[in-house]
Amino acid sequence: MQSSPTTYDVIVLGAGASGLMCAFTAAQQGRRVLVLERANKIGKKILMSGGGKCNFTNHFVEASNFISANPHFCKSALNRYTQWDFIAMVERYGIDYEERKHSQLFCTKSAKEILAMLLSECDLAGVEIKTHSELESVEAIELKGHSEKHQHDDKRSRYLLNIKHDQQSQKLQCQSLVIATGALSIPSLGGSGVGYDIAQQFGLNVTQRRAGLVPFMFSDAFKARCERLSGLALEVEVTCNNQSFTENILFTHRGLSGPVILQISNYWYPGDEISIDLLPGLTMADWLLQAKHKEAKSLLRTVLTKKLAKGLVAELQSLFWPEQADKPLAEFSDKQLMSIGNTLNNWTLKPSATEGYRTAEVTLGGINTDEVSSKTMEATKQQGLYFTGEILDVSGHLGGFNFQWAWSSGYTAGLFV
Ligand SMILES: Cc1cc2nc3c(=O)[nH]c(=O)nc-3n(C[C@H](O)[C@H](O)[C@H](O)COP(=O)(O)OP(=O)(O)OC[C@H]3O[C@@H](n4cnc5c(N)ncnc54)[C@H](O)[C@@H]3O)c2cc1C
Repeated sequence: MQSSPTTYDVIVLGAGASGLMCAFTAAQQGRRVLVLERANKIGKKILMSGGGKCNFTNHFVEASNFISANPHFCKSALNRYTQWDFIAMVERYGIDYEERKHSQLFCTKSAKEILAMLLSECDLAGVEIKTHSELESVEAIELKGHSEKHQHDDKRSRYLLNIKHDQQSQKLQCQSLVIATGALSIPSLGGSGVGYDIAQQFGLNVTQRRAGLVPFMFSDAFKARCERLSGLALEVEVTCNNQSFTENILFTHRGLSGPVILQISNYWYPGDEISIDLLPGLTMADWLLQAKHKEAKSLLRTVLTKKLAKGLVAELQSLFWPEQADKPLAEFSDKQLMSIGNTLNNWTLKPSATEGYRTAEVTLGGINTDEVSSKTMEATKQQGLYFTGEILDVSGHLGGFNFQWAWSSGYTAGLFV
C-alpha cells in the first residue's frame, strides 16, 4: 500500500546560501519547512568561498554590481534585505570579519562560521534538513473547488514531490516550493541544471547561460608565454566591451586569471578581444620618450624593469622589439617608442575560451526574471513556485555580491512562501 505523502508548508530544494536563508526566514514566519539537499554535505560553496574565508558581502552594494537582462530586477530584494542586515547577523553571532580591498568583507577565521550561523538559525526556527535527497519528480496538484478569487487563502498543498532519501522512495507535498538549487558552475560543489529543468517543466523561460567569473585560456603561442610567466601577478586595467576593471592579473599555465580577469570575463563573449593596460595611470609613450632623453645609453628592457617584472619584460621584448633587443634607447626612433608605449597601455589579446563551468564562480543568465516577481520571487504564472539565488538571471561582480544576492533573494522568498 502506498503511504500518504508527508506534508509541509514549504519545501526548499537546495541547502546552499539562498536555500538556507529562505528556509529559516520562512520558519520564523511560522511555516513548517523542509530543505532537501542532494549532496552529502550542506553549503559546500560557502565553505570553499573566498579561499575558505567567505567574502560574504560588500560594504557598497548597488544594482550596478549585478548583471541581468533586467538590471532593475534585483533592486527590491537588495533593498528589503541589505548588506547591513547580514552584517548585523554576523555581528550578533560574534563572527570576526575584516574589510579588504574594494570594501569586500571576509571572515577573519573561517567560512565555516557563516555556515554554522545559517544552520543555527535553521535549527532555532525548527527547519528540517534532509541531505542525500534526490528529487525524482515534481508535479503540480490540481486544486479544485476554489475560485481564482480565493487562491491566496487556499492553504492546500500545491506540489507533490517524489524523492529518494537514503535510497528510500518518499512522497512529499507542500504549498510552496522553492527552487534554490544554484547554477551550473563547479559540478563537484553541487552545480546542477535541475532547477532549470523544473522551471521549464512549468513553462518558464530560461535565458542563455555561460560561465562567469572565470579564467581565460589561450590556444596560440600566447599560452606558452603564460606558462613561462605562471605565478606572476600585477595590477592592471582590463577592458572589454566598454567595461573596465583595475585589479590584479595572474598568469597561469593555462592562460590568464586573477580578480581582474574574473571580473572582465562576465563581459566577454567568444571571439572578443580584451585590452590590458599594464601600467594604469602612466602614459607609457611619454614615459619612454623621457627615458630616452635621460638614459639614452640604457636598453629598453633595463628601463622597463623599473616598472615591470623582468620575466614579463623579456616576453614583451620578444613580442614587440626583438630586433632592437640589444640596442640602446638612443637608437629607437620616437615613433617606435611611442608605439611600444601605446602597446603597453593597450595590449590586445584574444582568449580562445574561458575555463568553463569547471572553475567558474558563477553562471551568467538563468531563469528569465520577466517570469518572476521581484517583490516575492514567486513565478508570475505558477502560484507557489519560487526561485532564489544564482539560478535566476542575476549575477554579481566579484566582491561578495553573489552571496548578497543569495541572502537578499532567499530572505525575500522566505517572507512570502
Ligand atoms: C569556488 C567558489 C567561490 C566563491 N566565492 C564567493 C565569495 O567569496 N563571495 C560571493 O559572494 N560569492 C562567491 N561564490 C559564488 C556563490 O558561492 C554563489 O553565488 C552562491 O553560493 C549561490 O547561492 P545559491 O543558494 O543560489 O546556490 P548554492 O550555494 O550553489 O546552493 C545550491 C544547493 O543546491 C543543491 N542542489 C543542486 N541540485 C539539487 C537537487 N536536485 N536536489 C537538491 N539539492 C540540489 C547543491 O548541492 C547546493 O547545496 C563562489 C563560488 C564558487 C564556486
